Amino acid sequence: MNDKDKNIYPIFDQMLSRQHKEQLLNQCGTVIWMTGLSGSGKSTIGKGLEKKLFDEGVLTTLLDGDNVRTGINNNLGFSLEDREENIRRIAETAKLFLESAIVTICCFVSPLKSIRDRAREIIGDENFIEVYINTPLDICEERDVKGLYQKARSGNLANFTGIDSPFEAPDSPYVEIKTLNRTVEESVEELYQAVMNKIKLV
Ligand code: ADP
Repeated sequence: MNDKDKNIYPIFDQMLSRQHKEQLLNQCGTVIWMTGLSGSGKSTIGKGLEKKLFDEGVLTTLLDGDNVRTGINNNLGFSLEDREENIRRIAETAKLFLESAIVTICCFVSPLKSIRDRAREIIGDENFIEVYINTPLDICEERDVKGLYQKARSGNLANFTGIDSPFEAPDSPYVEIKTLNRTVEESVEELYQAVMNKIKLV
């Protein structure tokens, strides 16, 4: 069924353009999509990047898995269907920020290529910067920031990514950050250097 049949008449073409807003903010709207295992460092590096960009005068927002699941997605679980709907809503939300020229940092495990491709499709390939936070499973498990690996190993948490649910690493991410033997500051700096050219208005 198309929009007219549903009595829906979008006004996207009548709104102020993203380009106008980019000029206003002197930055390019873009989505920085961080994928990686739980505990790999997505939120830590994402927060660090946001702080660094803020200090440089860049307007950002950060969308993070657990935050989103306490708000707009608080009715979703971890079945495959719910994971897909989780990402669809996140991608649509990121797109709203993108259209307002805001640099949107998304920190989500997003374990499957198909799930990330769905997000890329919604957001638009040219706006989607895929960042792979690559930390070996044993290190994530050792860090066990939220105690979830222990729960999963002891059988008290099912479908946990990396344990009994798959993680498919991206084939060709825009940037890959290896956190092993690096400080948080080094990882943030590496990401900042890699994305800055996508954010600066030329
Ligand atoms: P995720 O958001 O991917 O689940 P978190 O950011 O919550 O992961 O946790 C990552 C943990 O790893 C933090 O406790 C962080 O301090 C630690 N850590 C150690 N080295 C690094 C690094 N180089 N980059 C990011 N995090 C690191």
